[in-house]
Amino acid sequence: MRKRWVGGNWKMNGSSEEISALVDGLVTGLTGFDEVDVVVFPSFVYLQQVKGGLSGSNIFFGGQNVSQFDHGAYTGEISATMLEDKGCKYVLVGHSERRHVFGESSEVVAEKFAEALSHQLIPVLCVGETLEQREAGETEKVILEQLNTVIGEVGIESLGRSVVAYEPVWAIGTGLTATPDQVQEIHSFIRKTIALQHETLADELQIVYGGSVKAANSNEIFSMPDVDGGLIGGASLKANEFVEIVKS
Ligand code: PEP
Repeated sequence: MRKRWVGGNWKMNGSSEEISALVDGLVTGLTGFDEVDVVVFPSFVYLQQVKGGLSGSNIFFGGQNVSQFDHGAYTGEISATMLEDKGCKYVLVGHSERRHVFGESSEVVAEKFAEALSHQLIPVLCVGETLEQREAGETEKVILEQLNTVIGEVGIESLGRSVVAYEPVWAIGTGLTATPDQVQEIHSFIRKTIALQHETLADELQIVYGGSVKAANSNEIFSMPDVDGGLIGGASLKANEFVEIVKS
């Protein structure tokens, strides 16, 4: 039985004051609730603050990105060692904003995935197609390429030490949500693709959906058989709404 997983990607949002209120709201709202793995992804700047605020709770935290390099002359980058040092358990890898706004290739994403694993961080591998790719009938091809590049770099066994997030680019931050059937179709495709190489691993892998999930639609999406939770952007910035999503 796969445990449910819900992550909140706070992106480049928040101030010390707002982060403090958000963390307090989550800790209060989720005290004693441990049926779901809950993870928040604040900006790096607030990791230390979030670590303090979450201490003693059952909520984990992680980085929104990680360098593919270990250390050295890489101005502006954050290494896996640093994330580990700050107590991160997870790290987002290949979020569509990294791929499409900052031009990260699947190869770079795969290197970041490997770097995260070599530091005991759990990578949350984001995959998903653009609207153009969906309309051209290329959804499965795009996802296969994104998955296979990572498997080629680290091997199928190592994929089992991650969470996979299916995040159609056209549904992120747009208010457009994929229908539960569309989500199930791709989650099932991902699981079956992995099962061809490793059945047990495919059965156990947490595959979560991201793209305009909110309290009003989370229940329906999360009830699909191959959906193990969600990666939440905008709606994770409101403590009450995020708590409601986790509990759904
Ligand atoms: C995300 O950034 O991963 C995301 C799913 O965002 P939103 O929920 O705002 O669409």
